[in-house]
Amino acid sequence: SPTSPSASSAPRPVTVLAGPTAVGKGTVSAAIRRRYPQIWLSVSATTRAPRPGEIDGVHYRFVSDKEFTRLVEDGQMLEWAVVHGRHRYGTPRRSVEEAREAGRPVLLEIDLAGARQVRETLPDACFVFLAPPDWDTLVARLVGRGTEGPEERERRLATARQELAAESEFDVTIVNDDLDRATDELARVIGVL
Ligand code: 5GP
Repeated sequence: SPTSPSASSAPRPVTVLAGPTAVGKGTVSAAIRRRYPQIWLSVSATTRAPRPGEIDGVHYRFVSDKEFTRLVEDGQMLEWAVVHGRHRYGTPRRSVEEAREAGRPVLLEIDLAGARQVRETLPDACFVFLAPPDWDTLVARLVGRGTEGPEERERRLATARQELAAESEFDVTIVNDDLDRATDELARVIGVL
């Protein structure tokens, strides 16, 4: 049918990938970019500090609070949100426009509040919810990742509970039980597979 993603000849212009903490959004995004280099993965700006191994301009653009405020006030953010009650994260508008103008399918990996803003500004975008196989798997992944202390972990799990309830707002749900399968499914939704 003309509405099925794989039947369309042109990829979707913008796909938003959201989902609770530690569900594997970053892993799926990295996998799809490796396999389909034509997809342009947005690099967000954030006020949080880099984790070991994270490179400025690659994983995020790490900015000060002051710089983030300036970007927002200049109207340079397509969307932005305070995530997990702490740091600000946002999608630079200009780079998304440039990728679209270049005809590249754009993938935004953002939180739920950001996805809701993009729904307003880019209604033609496709909204994909990445879901964990079950709650225990999500908790185990967050603990196993070891990047957050107990307090931050609790904060993220509280957010995750709320975010899981928002699945029905999305166009498509992909269950991240197997990285290869989830990646293929996302590639089909974007229209590159
Ligand atoms: P982390 O600190 O683990 O890298 O990311 C925390 C959360 O921030 C993730 O859920 C991720 O989806 C979200 N996030 C990353 N970049 C953006 C962005 O540009 N905008 C919004 N709204 N959320 C983002």
